[in-house]
Amino acid sequence: MRIRTTQGREIDLKQEALDGLRLRLRGPLSVPGDVGYEDSRAVWNAMIDRKPAVAVRCRGAADVITCVQFARDNDILLCIKGGGHNIAGLAVADGALMLDLSLMRGVWVDGRSRIAHAQGGCLLGDVDRETQVHGLAGVLGFVSATGVAGLTLGGGFGYLTRRWGWTSDNVAGMDVVTADARLVRASSDENADLFWGMRGGGGNFGVVTGIDYALHPVGPEVVGGLVAWPASEAPGVLELYRTLAAKAPPELTLVALMRPAPPAPWLPKDWHGKPIVALLACHSGRPEDGEKLVAPIKSFGKPIGDVLVRRPYAQMQSLLDATQPKGRRYYWKSEYLPRIEPALCEKFIAHAAGIRSPHSALILFQIEGALNQLEAGHSPVGNRDARYVLNVTSAWEKADADKANIDWTREAWNDMKRFSTGGTYINFLTEDEGAERTQAALGKGLGRLGEIKAKWDPGNVFRTNRNIEPGC
Ligand SMILES: Cc1cc2nc3c(=O)[nH]c(=O)nc-3n(C[C@H](O)[C@H](O)[C@H](O)COP(=O)(O)OP(=O)(O)OC[C@H]3O[C@@H](n4cnc5c(N)ncnc54)[C@H](O)[C@@H]3O)c2cc1C
Repeated sequence: MRIRTTQGREIDLKQEALDGLRLRLRGPLSVPGDVGYEDSRAVWNAMIDRKPAVAVRCRGAADVITCVQFARDNDILLCIKGGGHNIAGLAVADGALMLDLSLMRGVWVDGRSRIAHAQGGCLLGDVDRETQVHGLAGVLGFVSATGVAGLTLGGGFGYLTRRWGWTSDNVAGMDVVTADARLVRASSDENADLFWGMRGGGGNFGVVTGIDYALHPVGPEVVGGLVAWPASEAPGVLELYRTLAAKAPPELTLVALMRPAPPAPWLPKDWHGKPIVALLACHSGRPEDGEKLVAPIKSFGKPIGDVLVRRPYAQMQSLLDATQPKGRRYYWKSEYLPRIEPALCEKFIAHAAGIRSPHSALILFQIEGALNQLEAGHSPVGNRDARYVLNVTSAWEKADADKANIDWTREAWNDMKRFSTGGTYINFLTEDEGAERTQAALGKGLGRLGEIKAKWDPGNVFRTNRNIEPGC
């Protein structure tokens, strides 16, 4: 069979070599045409259609070590899939040996020390489900099908970020299979340089087989959900958002969005597909406090839908899932913002009016709080001046609509990026964003990451990611 080397050259891999690898594994190995191969290679974004030569569904660290060793011995290109949610499709590479971690979804929670150990293929929902049994939660993202590893390796933010920082600020340690196929521990006590690099530098330094998250008391009930109004109400709603968010305590996270109304049961049928503005809120402190804080949202104007209520935290964590299904075509542009300015709100409304697909949206996430209080060099995620995230998200179904949707996304972004801190989120970068965008995301941390790469992966074995050149 044909397989690619790290340099992208196609070589022959003998059947005996492949059979030998299969025999040494606990998890299934598949090649094109085999059962399971298509599931392994498919990622969330249907714009990405790449075919690895071989996919291994690892069952544990031993399988990962075996594959990394095999790739090293034969100079084969490796790619690693966690949840497969990266918009740029970094989990999958043509002709590569893919390590698909989707069978590694175990989670163990120690309620006393408030630590969750999650295997490297876990999705956010796996961790939330197990931690909530103990009345605890990790700082994770907004959509439960996202992979914990990719999210954490790039930073990570969600409803708890305002209280406790980036997801990666809440990592106590990681188990990592390195480029020389060793399983090592990365924590503040062991291999501290590797630990620093892995909390924002992506999958550049090894394969994460387990992550220990520091947990916090949250739930089981929070006040959360959405209120929606006609888009014509956007000036008032966004002004309400701007002023409420500016004084909201860290327990309350507010998100504003504009989009065509999805066919959700809480929105009247005759509104489906029509332009709306909505506020999404989650208050993770005492529900009574939350209810008081969101009262101005619920009483504003004449909403067409309101599901901002007391609900289980785990349910809150999957509230947006249906809006982000696997298999649509997606294209995003994103910036960190220092504040919400009235002039930005005007642009936001104007560009929302030009949305080309019923699934697209303009979104403002509030993240300010704990992350701003740590020093710039605390982790490579940096961007400690970021207080909001602007995301221009296009989603559509057919390839013939690619151009219209991508053009709209770029136009809106080009017009609004003047409000940026100058920084952007590495995990939201699309396939066409180059080195200058990696620089915007990792900023001053890049030099140190290059040194760590030179020490831990001098041969650039882990290159199918936002790649950091050794010694750059
Ligand atoms: C619908 C949706 C919602 C999102 N919401 C949020 C959000 O609320 N907050 C947020 O911060 N981000 C969010 N993101 C962005 C998300 O953090 C990134 O897409 C992230 O890369 C997803 O991780 P994954 O494991 O699913 O990715 P994958 O596509 O599997 O991998 C992404 C990168 O990480 C590497 N990688 C994955 N697993 C491992 C591992 N175990 N060891 C080493 N390298 C690995 C891959 O090789 C690849 O380079 C969202 C993305 C989507 C699509």
